[in-house]
Amino acid sequence: MGLKRIERTPSAYSYPLIIKNLLRTPMIYAPRQEIVYRDNLRHDYLTFGKRVARLANALEVLGVESGTTVAVMDWDSHRYLECYFAIPMMGAVLHTINIRLSPEQLIYTINHAEDEVILVHSDFLPMLEAVKDQFTTVKKILLLTDEDVTPETSLRLDGEYEQLIGRCSEDYDFPDFDEDTMATTFYTTGTTGLPKGVYFSHRQLVLHTLGMFTTFSGFKSQAHLDSGDVYMPMTPMFHVHAWGVPYICTLLGLKQVYPGRYEPELLLRLIREEKVTFSHCVPTILHMLLNSPSAKETDLSRWQVVIGGAALPTGLCKAALERGINIYSAYGMSETCPLLTTTKLKPGLLDADLDEQAAIRCRTGLPGILVDLRIVDPDGRDVPHDGQATGEVVVRTPWLTQGYLKEPEKSEELWAGGWLHTGDIGWVDPDGFLQITDRIKDVIKTGGEWLSSLELEDIISQHPAVSEAAVIGIPDEKWGERPLALVVLKEEFKGKVEEEELKEFFVKFYEDGTIPKYGVPNRIVITDSILKTSVGKINKKDLRTLYG
Ligand code: AMP
Repeated sequence: MGLKRIERTPSAYSYPLIIKNLLRTPMIYAPRQEIVYRDNLRHDYLTFGKRVARLANALEVLGVESGTTVAVMDWDSHRYLECYFAIPMMGAVLHTINIRLSPEQLIYTINHAEDEVILVHSDFLPMLEAVKDQFTTVKKILLLTDEDVTPETSLRLDGEYEQLIGRCSEDYDFPDFDEDTMATTFYTTGTTGLPKGVYFSHRQLVLHTLGMFTTFSGFKSQAHLDSGDVYMPMTPMFHVHAWGVPYICTLLGLKQVYPGRYEPELLLRLIREEKVTFSHCVPTILHMLLNSPSAKETDLSRWQVVIGGAALPTGLCKAALERGINIYSAYGMSETCPLLTTTKLKPGLLDADLDEQAAIRCRTGLPGILVDLRIVDPDGRDVPHDGQATGEVVVRTPWLTQGYLKEPEKSEELWAGGWLHTGDIGWVDPDGFLQITDRIKDVIKTGGEWLSSLELEDIISQHPAVSEAAVIGIPDEKWGERPLALVVLKEEFKGKVEEEELKEFFVKFYEDGTIPKYGVPNRIVITDSILKTSVGKINKKDLRTLYG
């Protein structure tokens, strides 16, 4: 017998999973809840809803229609949040531009995505000026600014956001359309070649919103998010939709705080004054915050911070736990919208001591709901979930990019065998916890054996003098590659700790069997800072060139 498809009454409405439908609930549950932008502004959700409609009318004036790609270059702002909704709700595509791209990458992504309209914060005008002669599709540029005066620019501006939306109607009849319509696109810079565009449909973003919320809040553990929380992103809104969290928080009608450009003292003040309870960031940002002068005067004990984008080192985790921060890891990538896993302290562990908790909180995590995650060997066979056997992480979920924009070959590579290949190596333990041990490209191969650079970083992060660390493989005539550790010391230890002492620290982990003897780095370099990528992660590719 064949499958029995449901009958559709001719008049029955087939409800599409489109972003516009996420806005229904907060307008009923939380119309007066606040959305805050730095010290500059606060307004309620009703105003936000009206501004979304005004923005759609304004964009229509600029010629935006369904299918148009509209790019945004802004710090994290209330305006960016309006773009997250208005642009896709019109049936247009939101392109969130990475504001840290090189001029070559910037113009490549603008032309490749076929941006027709760019909304640009005044701080990024010089970036656009530098590439404007190479625009192939851009027709209009709208200025975003917090100042009263229009800045000098050689670009032809087609208006200023506030002035333009101020003149537009607060009513807009957002249409219904197919849920498979493209809603967003953005570029991942990867480690080689030109940036690659990923893209997500309305259906995918709605399901990601529901799936991520359920994963965070549906299970009794340290992770929770509900309408009583106060949200402030610390992952740029151009980076994988700030991990999709603004969509969840808007759906639930949370108080939201958008900090603009990330300035540590301002972030800390917003945490204090706006009583922020939920944030997320890469380890570098939290590291920077905890080391800023007013961190000590800020009560962080009501703050929950999800760390993703890179492994959470044990040293940083413990430092945060000592400050009372509810810190833990999540994992995903640009291609995956992003959520794949988040770590969970099962109820019995909620009162465990700091060391025991840190061990779980630093795990990469359990797959989120609807996430089908496997670890496979090079032939695509599953490796045992014994907490030891490693392989590549491959996944299926409803919210994975279905390809790279206009890149059929790379898309097929990404999706080889019908599973999305993350390019990450890891193991799964018998309880189902995933641990990423490396990017395939970052793995260190020494004397024919694989070494996990993340494990070595995690070890050295636990030395009391170490503030930040990176481990890379550098070519070695005899062994193929050898690990080299770069270490930034805490202020109070600068000039007092030598490379030899740090090496001894590794030796202890060899002696207790945690790592093999060849895991002890030959060279340790004490440095003032470690090179980062455009999204604040350790830039291993450039470090390898620099030290190799
Ligand atoms: P991006 O596409 O820039 O967001 O980078 C995604 C990559 O960051 C993943 O493929 C991983 O290599 C890395 N990553 C993200 N989250 C974690 C995590 N919790 N632990 C280890 N690596 C991570």
